[in-house]
Amino acid sequence: MPRDVATELIHHRYQPPAGFEAPQPAVHKASTVIFKDVAAMRARDWRSKAGYTYGLHGTPTTFLLEERIATLEGGLHGSLVPSGLAAVALVDQALLSQGDEVLLPDNVYGPSAALARGELARWGITHRLYDPMDVAGLAAMIGPATRLLWLEAAGSVTMEFPDLHGLVTAARARGVTTALDNTWGAGIAFCGFDSGVDIVMQALTKFPSGGGDVLMGSVVTRDAALHERIKLTHMRLGLGVAGNDAELVLRSLATMALRYAAQDRSGRELAQWLATRPEVARVLHPALQDAPGHANWRATCTAAAGLFSVMLHERYSREQVDAFVDTLQLFRIGYSWAGPVSLVVPYEVSEIRNAGARRREHLRGHLVRFSIGFEAVADLQADLAQALQRAFG
Ligand SMILES: *Cc1c(COP(=O)(O)O)cnc(C)c1O
Repeated sequence: MPRDVATELIHHRYQPPAGFEAPQPAVHKASTVIFKDVAAMRARDWRSKAGYTYGLHGTPTTFLLEERIATLEGGLHGSLVPSGLAAVALVDQALLSQGDEVLLPDNVYGPSAALARGELARWGITHRLYDPMDVAGLAAMIGPATRLLWLEAAGSVTMEFPDLHGLVTAARARGVTTALDNTWGAGIAFCGFDSGVDIVMQALTKFPSGGGDVLMGSVVTRDAALHERIKLTHMRLGLGVAGNDAELVLRSLATMALRYAAQDRSGRELAQWLATRPEVARVLHPALQDAPGHANWRATCTAAAGLFSVMLHERYSREQVDAFVDTLQLFRIGYSWAGPVSLVVPYEVSEIRNAGARRREHLRGHLVRFSIGFEAVADLQADLAQALQRAFG
């Protein structure tokens, strides 16, 4: 009996010829993965990349992206999660238990600290903030409950570049696992694992995506046992990424090194120009001579993200600073970075840093952060000039 067309449309006989190749890899999408027979289903093994079991545990598309990100970071094993923040949370949940302590740099990505203050605290995991520019101070803080040290280079918003190797060495000497948030360096400016860290995470939302249109995160290790631990937590939490999102990141990875270099060049040009402006008390860009941690940056990095902050003079009012930001035309107001559109965000240092940091000389005044996109530098500079003139002139 011929089968009904409804059935034929699902179980169609035609198979396109194998061997198709194109510059971009195919996009596989699945919750269900079909097994060839019961034996194959029983033999399924979601841990190794030997085969497929369920969409959540990987498809050819996500395996490909995982491997490319692991290579980008200089690691061996990778996991993908739906956002950069989810990558931070995955590391915390995989490694921390009730009674443990995690140490975060004072200039940590804000939501990472919020996670520690919220969920981690509720689960009986304590945290303390350390000064990332003080290796001896960090070493003295490590106690018997300290399990995990988070690092960030350069730090979020205030852009201090720490002595990564010194911090990691202090932690390792006490058996503390170290995790680097490598979103700024993106695997391009330096290799996170070279500093000795155990785990490198990245918000793929930023440079690997490069479009301002995808949220994703990664966790990479060199150590198989550590990867296994993270993978188990990843599986039990039900974390996964969509094929179409993985496709967008795979497509953008091809141009990532070029984009990083272009935004670095434009960023440094604008940072140097802003440093000459009378309205600007300080430019916080690790590649600039007088930036906090510049020597560490020079010893560690071959490039810098097109991301920096400026401290506008204390003598201005918050209203003037807001007016400056509102008067910018090409720079749009918004979070995130590494996309095509240049972005600007004003921050209150007193709201994002502890009291000690607030007193620091390099953080006096009003902080405004810039993320440089792909517009022509001359146009961006003209935009900054007109807004400075109108707000402070
Ligand atoms: C953006 C960012 C994250 C979080 O990434 P999302 O994908 O937005 O959750 C984490 N760390 C740093 C340093 C970031 O800049």
